[in-house]
Amino acid sequence: MHMSTLHIKTYGCQMNKHDSDRIASMLSTSLGLKLVHTAEEADIILFNTCSIREKAANKIFSDLGRIKPLTLKKKNLIIGVGGCVAVQAAETIFKRVPYVNLVFGPQSLYRLPTLLMQAQHKRIIDIDYTPIEKLENLPLPSDYQPSADVSIIEGCHHFCTYCIVPYVRGRAVSRSFSSILNEVNVLAKNGTKEIHLLGQNVNCYLDARQHNIRRLSDLLYRIADIPGVERIRMTTSHPAYFSTDLIQAYRDLPKIVNHVHLPVQSGSNTVLKKMNRKYTKEDYLRLTDALKTIRPNISISSDFIVGFPFETDADFEDTLNLVRQIRFDRSSFSFMYNPRPQTKAAKFGDPVPLWVKKERIKILQKLLLKYERAISQSMLHTIQRILITGTAKKSPHQVSGRTENNRIVNIDGSSSLIGKMLNVRVIQVMSNSLQGKVIE
Ligand code: SF4
Repeated sequence: MHMSTLHIKTYGCQMNKHDSDRIASMLSTSLGLKLVHTAEEADIILFNTCSIREKAANKIFSDLGRIKPLTLKKKNLIIGVGGCVAVQAAETIFKRVPYVNLVFGPQSLYRLPTLLMQAQHKRIIDIDYTPIEKLENLPLPSDYQPSADVSIIEGCHHFCTYCIVPYVRGRAVSRSFSSILNEVNVLAKNGTKEIHLLGQNVNCYLDARQHNIRRLSDLLYRIADIPGVERIRMTTSHPAYFSTDLIQAYRDLPKIVNHVHLPVQSGSNTVLKKMNRKYTKEDYLRLTDALKTIRPNISISSDFIVGFPFETDADFEDTLNLVRQIRFDRSSFSFMYNPRPQTKAAKFGDPVPLWVKKERIKILQKLLLKYERAISQSMLHTIQRILITGTAKKSPHQVSGRTENNRIVNIDGSSSLIGKMLNVRVIQVMSNSLQGKVIE
């Protein structure tokens, strides 16, 4: 293969970012490709798309248009489109953009080295669902990262009426218990201190191979026992499947960070039912109360959709009241509803006017920010344990790390501190970060 450089543009969700990292690492090991920052330097350009939000789904065509001049300059340039939009619109992409050589789905990642070799000679579409192969076949990480993402479950079968994931990522498939532990052991031996377990719904993890039932909680107890692992994060948990054994794991394992991301989407039972979320506002409150009982200061963040079909002012008020009751923390995300093709909710139309959605999202985000800032303020002068992950964005004389509740803390120091867990005192609270001072 005469190709030596690779550029990846990633859209959307955390799962996609993780997939892009894996693609880069796999293609570096298997084909010796070097990752470059700009499309102009690359022999292969891959677009790893996301169709969860309408904006991201539409962007791919304008981005493909933008790189057209490069294809005229470089005769052997390979262009690939992967991810969820690829699954939904493979044929359209092929027809509309003749210089796309390869379209691949999220489940074909592990086949990429072969696909890229073939794509030099012919145009290829590979969007089959073979998730279990993908999860078990990705190469083990070889590079050192202070904090590393580990996929444990792919896809989803809950069919929330607004969501495209079950159609583009397929039904949920859990990776084998042994394969996950193997990866975490390798990471820990390489010096990784924080393990971030990833999946559309991590708490639906279930490995029933070899007559053994292993749940997320079983995985957490085993990972917490691996020497070198100091912190465990998880994204994302579904409120309807947050079982008692998982709450007990939060009680027993201090290595699980004091933060949980628990997407509620709406505080109105009518809307939740139409969304097919399978819990009520009361169920959600019971769950967060149970978590607060065992961890009184636990930070809870969430996702919200405003302007879901037929959401009334009263429904929206229910959402605001829930926010007031729970006082959600940083890392909460809110979106204006947009119908996604194929989904059940697309049949409801989009009756809430845009100006109403805009008004509601403004009110919601202002309220979320109020609680986020109050929590940040309450952290002033407290001692926080942070994992240093890199140099600070704004100063070369500082490094930065994250608290358990996802605050960036900048401290004086050099890059030799990267990878260290440090106790710091928060000495200043800024709007998007904290300033800290090491106390050990
Ligand atoms: S639980 Fe619902 S929102 Fe989450 S991925 Fe599955 S279908 Fe989508």
